[in-house]
Amino acid sequence: MRFRNKPWAKDKIEQYPQYIVPNPEQCRGKWKEAFERVQPLHIEVGTGKGRFITEMAKANPDINYIGIELFQSVIVAALDRLIEAELPNLKLLNVNASDLGKYFAKNDVDRVYLNFSDPWPKTRHEKRRLTYKDFLKLYEDILVDGGEIHFKTDNQGLFEYSLKSFSQYGLLLTFISLDLHKSDFEGNIMTEYEQKFSEKGNRIYRSEVKYQN
Ligand code: SAM
Repeated sequence: MRFRNKPWAKDKIEQYPQYIVPNPEQCRGKWKEAFERVQPLHIEVGTGKGRFITEMAKANPDINYIGIELFQSVIVAALDRLIEAELPNLKLLNVNASDLGKYFAKNDVDRVYLNFSDPWPKTRHEKRRLTYKDFLKLYEDILVDGGEIHFKTDNQGLFEYSLKSFSQYGLLLTFISLDLHKSDFEGNIMTEYEQKFSEKGNRIYRSEVKYQN
C-alpha cells in the first residue's frame, strides 16, 4: 500500500488509548475484559483505513471487533472513523500480524477477516502473504476450535494461491464466490480497496474457510 508519511500520526495514536490499544500484550487471553460487553471477537488483519471494520461494528453491535494495521500513517484514518462513530465494540491495534501470538491466546478470537491483502506476487515473497501457511498456523493458534477465515480480494493470482494454501493446510472450504458483486450474497460490506477496484471493473473473489479441529 502506498501512503503519505504522517509524522504526527504517532502522537495522535497515543492520544486515543481507548481506541488504539497501547499495550495489547497485556490483554492476551483476556480480551473479553477490554470491551464493554462480553461477546464474540472478530479481527481484521490488514485493516487499512478501517472502512470495513467500522461498518461491521456499526452493523453488528453484538460482536466485538479489532482492526489490525501495521502502519501508523494508515491506521490514523481508521482512528478518525472510530472517533467519529464512537463505537464501544471496536478497537484498533497498530502491530505486525507476524506477532499475533504475542497479543492473542488460543480461543481469544472467533473469526479472522482478510480483505484485499497485499498480493506479494514474487515467489521469493511468498512468506509475506497473509494466507501463507505460517500465517494460517498463527490464526489457528488464536482462534476457537472450528474458527473461520473470511477472505476477499480482486487479485486472481492471490485468490488461487490462497485456495491452494487453505486446502494444503486442511481447512474446509464453506463458501466461494468468483464474482461477489454479481452473486446473490447478501450483506456485503465494502472495504476501501473493494470500492476502488470494483469501480474500475475488477471482479471480486470471496471465500470462507473453517479450521477442522
Ligand atoms: N483491508 C483494507 C481494504 O481492503 O481496503 C486494506 C487493504 S491494503 C492492500 C493491505 C493493508 O494490510 C495495508 O494497509 C497494509 O499496511 C496492511 N498489512 C500488510 N501486512 C500486514 C501485517 N503483516 N500486519 C499488519 N498489517 C499489514
